[in-house]
Amino acid sequence: MADPRRRHPQNVPGPWFVDDRCISCDTCTDISPEIFGRDEARKAFVHTQLHQDGTLFRAALESCPVEAVGDEADPSSLTTA
Ligand code: SF4
Repeated sequence: MADPRRRHPQNVPGPWFVDDRCISCDTCTDISPEIFGRDEARKAFVHTQLHQDGTLFRAALESCPVEAVGDEADPSSLTTA
């Protein structure tokens, strides 16, 4: 589960985010380049919030191998630790 306290600094403001545990696997950016971008170190971040097709965001969240993608509107995607 993603940790909103560890948001990548390039996430734009809003509920969707990537935290700093991204391992640069490119899955989310391949699923939805409309929502996810890569920084100079190829770490992912959210560049567009609440894209009209939320299923793409959901697919990326569920596909991230390290659970670094989170949705602050969905507590089940967030760490409670
Ligand atoms: S799917 Fe997860 S680990 Fe892979 S690039 Fe996206 S945030 Fe990083």
